[in-house]
Amino acid sequence: MEIDYDLIVIGGGSGGLAAAQRAAEYGARALIIESARLGGTCVNVGCVPKKVMWNAAQIAHALHDAPEYGFDSSVRGHDWAALKAKRDAYITRLNGIYEGNLGKRKVDLIRGRARLVGPCTVEVDGRRLTGGRVLISSGGRPWRPAIPGAELGIDSDGFFELETLPAATTVVGGGYIGVEIAGVLAALGSKVTLLLRHDAVLRSFDVMLQEGAMEGLKDAGVQVVTQAVPASVSRAADGRLAVVLEDGRAIAAQDCLIWATGREPVVDFIDASVGVPMDSGNHILVDEWQETALPGLFAIGDVTGRATLTPVAIAAGRRLADRIWGGMAGRKMDYDCIATVVFSHPAIGTVGLTEAEARARHGEDMKVFTSTFVPMYHAMTTAKPKTRMKLVTVGAARKVVGVHLMGPGSDEMLQGFAVAVRMGATKQDFDDTVAIHPTSAEELVTMR
Ligand code: NDP
Repeated sequence: MEIDYDLIVIGGGSGGLAAAQRAAEYGARALIIESARLGGTCVNVGCVPKKVMWNAAQIAHALHDAPEYGFDSSVRGHDWAALKAKRDAYITRLNGIYEGNLGKRKVDLIRGRARLVGPCTVEVDGRRLTGGRVLISSGGRPWRPAIPGAELGIDSDGFFELETLPAATTVVGGGYIGVEIAGVLAALGSKVTLLLRHDAVLRSFDVMLQEGAMEGLKDAGVQVVTQAVPASVSRAADGRLAVVLEDGRAIAAQDCLIWATGREPVVDFIDASVGVPMDSGNHILVDEWQETALPGLFAIGDVTGRATLTPVAIAAGRRLADRIWGGMAGRKMDYDCIATVVFSHPAIGTVGLTEAEARARHGEDMKVFTSTFVPMYHAMTTAKPKTRMKLVTVGAARKVVGVHLMGPGSDEMLQGFAVAVRMGATKQDFDDTVAIHPTSAEELVTMR
């Protein structure tokens, strides 16, 4: 059968762009179909603009501490609209750079909505195109519960559209997004209420980090309400929102309600007749090679629901291209031991097994090392937030299988330690590494 492209990629987010460009570098004829801005969630309504907001919040914290370091400073406010305009311009620049990169690597781009009508056949703009292989990298979108008044709230996409700082905000959900948004808003001056349906934030993280994150939010002035499942939302005549919980409690009127209750995969462009296998949450099922049960049809990134992080999608896409067009047989994404950071205040970094996971796998054949201390930065400040660190080790050799950090610098500290954990470092290797002084990171090589 005559094919139009060696690779057709549906979705120009981080994963799709990476796969198409790597395939094209090897000489494959590649096409990307994208209806919205290039860069997907991460660049447009995720990691990148979030990091700008996190930086702003970090500066707010530093300004707060400045007098304790001898500065005679006064802050006359924060211009949210000015920062948003600059942030938007930066994202627009990135969109252009991404498009330019496609041109340089000779990847074709069609701006339009694709329909998958066969395992390797796509319809777009009334044209039918066939690929030697088709890669679905359509990502995800925010999900919110279907309760009365849910539409009165916004989601993380809407957060990035806010033109002003809401005076009072309710955030629902204590995952990555809920914790990060609550922290930014609180630091910039919104009165934040965080609703958790259970008793903790970041429930899949090590319990030390759950506790640290909760403390960090409370220190920042966030009012955390536990066992709080919204039942309805309403808007009063003055425009303010109120939430009623399933147990009847009412959350006082707010200017803004943000749903941070998880994300769902985007699969509505797939014709049911194609028979793409999916799980109960509509994530596309793939094997270890990112291939679906339909030969030639692949999927990567958030749409597969596995470790839904930008660098994972990028790595999966590049490795797929390396294997198919780069002659690197056996190259594939390894979903074990993926390091991740939550941009809370201070940041959280984590890689490998939590203490509970290690205990479940290794029983008592494990040892945990912890360190809790006030970092030197706070020797000069009245507030004394603690940095928390934990190493999870297993076996007689005390192999380090988990590193969990919360404290200033954890976001930048983790990457190197993630390399060590992947390489199978033991506690002795950590101990034999001479410390860098004075830093927080040195605690990781001096724990007893
Ligand atoms: P998460 O799955 O991390 O968290 C969802 C939160 O919503 C949880 O606290 C969950 O509660 C709560 N929740 C779910 N359903 C309901 C409901 N019906 N009513 C009330 N609460 C509910 O999703 P996020 O949206 O925070 O993030 C999505 C993904 O995006 C993350 O998993 C991550 O992969 C990625 N991401 C990564 C970032 C990073 O790398 N820094 C930053 C932002 C996002 P409970 O825990 O009790 O189940």
